[in-house]
Amino acid sequence: MPRLVGGNRPDAVVVGTGPNGLAAATVLTAAGLSVRVYEAADQIGGGCRTDELTLPGFRHDVCAAVHPLALASSFFTRFGLEARGVQFLQPEIPLAHPLGGRRAVVVQRSVEETAAALSREDGQAYRRLVGPLAGRPGALASAVLSSHRGMPRATLTAVRFAGLGVRSAMALARRFEGPAARALLAGMGAHGNQPLDRPLTGGVALLLTSLAHEVGWPVVQGGSAGIVAALGTFLAERGTEVVTGQPVTSLGELPAARATLLDVGPHGFLAIAQDQLPARYAAQLRTFRYGPGVCKVDWALCGPVPWASAACRRAGTLHVGGTLEEIAACEFEVAHGRHPEWPFVLAVQPGVVDPTRAPGGTHTLWTYCHVPAGSDRDMSARIAAQIERFAPGFRELVLARSVRTARRVQAENANNVGGAIGGGVQDLRQTLLRPTPRWNPYRTPLPGVYLCSASTPPGPGVHGRCGELAAMSALHDRFGILSADVDGDRRTRIMHRL
Ligand SMILES: Cc1cc2nc3c(=O)[nH]c(=O)nc-3n(C[C@H](O)[C@H](O)[C@H](O)COP(=O)(O)OP(=O)(O)OC[C@H]3O[C@@H](n4cnc5c(N)ncnc54)[C@H](O)[C@@H]3O)c2cc1C
Repeated sequence: MPRLVGGNRPDAVVVGTGPNGLAAATVLTAAGLSVRVYEAADQIGGGCRTDELTLPGFRHDVCAAVHPLALASSFFTRFGLEARGVQFLQPEIPLAHPLGGRRAVVVQRSVEETAAALSREDGQAYRRLVGPLAGRPGALASAVLSSHRGMPRATLTAVRFAGLGVRSAMALARRFEGPAARALLAGMGAHGNQPLDRPLTGGVALLLTSLAHEVGWPVVQGGSAGIVAALGTFLAERGTEVVTGQPVTSLGELPAARATLLDVGPHGFLAIAQDQLPARYAAQLRTFRYGPGVCKVDWALCGPVPWASAACRRAGTLHVGGTLEEIAACEFEVAHGRHPEWPFVLAVQPGVVDPTRAPGGTHTLWTYCHVPAGSDRDMSARIAAQIERFAPGFRELVLARSVRTARRVQAENANNVGGAIGGGVQDLRQTLLRPTPRWNPYRTPLPGVYLCSASTPPGPGVHGRCGELAAMSALHDRFGILSADVDGDRRTRIMHRL
């Protein structure tokens, strides 16, 4: 098997430069190891890149655009993104959900203001549901952004979140009487890309809503690529070699190293490991499910989106799909292999806070909708029709658009199997025991080989925690550098070297 480019034998190898691969490389480099990183694409960043997808000067986030998880991540706090030049910009309103005419339901930074805009009964229900989760800074994030093995420290919040979050979004929505609060909950739960009556879709809704209050839903000035650029600069300054344009097709191609960390999903690992894996473990990886995909459409606009609702014009993120019933029907359709006529659209308008994304007076709009796995259907006309419903005149503003069908989303990044963006379905089994039921989810049966992608805990999002926790395991097992207790003092000393 030919060895990939690179000189001397490194201590550790990382495959893949998504936020988790880069986080793993960062922790290993900070521990003083020599590290080499390989990336299939021509640029680093995986699901956290920014590019001129439509017209010159229009900078679009190719995948991730909104970063509550980066702000809530203990890894990025220790790394110090902001001190390294990454500027998080907070829209005045984190999230708006148009309801028709000039009406919209919004999530403000404060629980109280959000609740006050609902009916009296629904406002009280909102305070009771979200208030305790959003009210203890750091507690929810430390419970959720963990390895999901062992007892989290913030037990009260963790227990409360577990008790509520295991329910479906539909079940939690029954706590509200009015259509506005019910639609709000449905839109939040639909981020899970599953039918809204499935367990844990309520947890997705509660996590995202609580984080909007606690840390906001910011965008990055200039684009999400700023986050990976900061990690890339750290690695370059410490002499860690990053080789791009180099897909790894077999473990045998990699230089011999004491630790190999793979920012790939279970199916990617099966392909790379070929027949080296024990049959039982390989069978577990084969049963891993990725779920539906997305069709992503980026728009260059000659002006801001003309939302009928004034609140929508001030929001960073929009949930465009109407009532709870409409959104639930959409997610049901997708899960059953159909393309909804009126898709639930997630939209981000970074221009409300970041004028650097497009030339003077023009704007970018980031959208996607859910589609069946592997779909090659261009949903841009249906996405435009859904937006037009709440923002009459939208179509007339379009200068250009860039479409990525689910099939293309996978072609650009092998981790997005079928166009799925969450590293695997977030059902009960795959949330608690992802990727396979092992005590340490990052270790594999192959000595020195670890998984570190979003298909490991804590799962999807730009937070780097999968990479950090996998790297901590490798440092402990292979180099004797750290204790197994990743929250112990020795970790703190490593992190001070960042
Ligand atoms: C359309 C879209 C929108 C999203 N929106 C948000 C959002 O707003 N906020 C948020 O927090 N998250 C969002 N996400 C999710 C987030 O982007 C991912 O959860 C995150 O990027 C996962 O990081 P990762 O490092 O595990 O993998 P990835 O970011 O997927 O990176 C994996 C990297 O490994 C490389 N690779 C894979 N196989 C090989 C191989 N064999 N050889 C070499 N290289 C390989 C890939 O090319 C890729 O660069 C979104 C994702 C998508 C696709």
